[in-house]
Amino acid sequence: MPVRDVFGRPLGSLRLSVTDRCNLRCGYCMPEEHYVWLPRESLLTFEELARLSTVFASLGADRIRLTGGEPLLRRDLDSLVRQLASIGGVQDLALTTNGMLLAAHAASLRDAGLQRVTVSLDTLRPDRFAALTRSAHHGDVLAGIAAAVDAGLPLKLNTVVMRGVNDDELGELLGFARDVGAEVRFIEYMDVGGATGWRPEVVVSRGDMLAQLGASMGTIHPVADDHPGAPADRFQLDDGTVFGIIASTTAPFCRDCDRSRVTADGTWYLCLYADEGLDLRAPLRDGAGDDELAVLIAEHWRRRTDRGAEERASLADRTPLYQVAGLRADPRREMHTRGG
Ligand code: SAM
Ligand code: SF4
Ligand code: SF4
Repeated sequence: MPVRDVFGRPLGSLRLSVTDRCNLRCGYCMPEEHYVWLPRESLLTFEELARLSTVFASLGADRIRLTGGEPLLRRDLDSLVRQLASIGGVQDLALTTNGMLLAAHAASLRDAGLQRVTVSLDTLRPDRFAALTRSAHHGDVLAGIAAAVDAGLPLKLNTVVMRGVNDDELGELLGFARDVGAEVRFIEYMDVGGATGWRPEVVVSRGDMLAQLGASMGTIHPVADDHPGAPADRFQLDDGTVFGIIASTTAPFCRDCDRSRVTADGTWYLCLYADEGLDLRAPLRDGAGDDELAVLIAEHWRRRTDRGAEERASLADRTPLYQVAGLRADPRREMHTRGG
């Protein structure tokens, strides 16, 4: 039986950030010129990540997602995937990537036991991609998507929708996803750490997205929810195309949240918005046994009361979670460090 928090939410989905480094600079995640990076010696080794994952799995974490930063910047990621895939109790092993390096790695990741991949794709237009990410390599992302399809990896696309930036592309992105056999998930722009330029006016709500898609794509039908912890509400067009919307900003779903995150330096966060995390690297490196780690993790989860997005949504005057000084004070507050 999974361990449960104060609100009865089970420990379920574990997100492992394997690096805080990234080869893009998406404006909603890394808008600044300079960053404070985690010291390299503080990063957990693959063996440490696998050991922690085994302990988490014994407490109910049955889904693992590798993220970052850009996880494919971590060398030999397939060897971590191989270790994680062999852990009993892990039923789902996924990767979230910006796709830039995926073309070279999709087949080996699949061979190592990766079960599915999510690629972030906010636009189909190279010039817009350049403005959004400060990179000219849009073609590499598309090649990464093609490689994931060729490798037979089930594929999702993540699109952060921003008013006046890419909200005129929803129909085209839906069509692209359909053509490559992927499911697109439109994500409301979130006021997470790192989003120092966040403003409520730029958020396109789930309601606005559905209205826009309904006008251009025809009737939209809700799809029954078969997993209450899943963040996306799923919908279907008359032609059978399924897509998701993650309404974390305007309609948060904290009551069902079974997700937690481990940063690349082994700090465990119970919420995307949490200010403080629990240091798991120190006990790991100080020789704690699996049983001791399990007690530490279970006790911490049992005390969990986090519902960050719901608290943010109830604020009368909503401004960015942190400004630069707050992020510099603790780089783990950054979305690219904590993992999306
Ligand atoms: N670099 C990888 C990528 O971009 O897919 C993995 C890490 S990234 C932090 C994970 C996800 O967080 C991405 O899909 C990204 O779009 C999302 N994300 C980052 N900042 C966000 C924000 N302010 N609002 C909503 N989603 C955000
Ligand atoms: Fe973009 Fe992901 Fe890098 Fe953040 S971590 S800048 S979302 S690619
Ligand atoms: Fe879970 Fe925190 Fe996100 Fe709410 S805000 S869904 S508690 S991670």
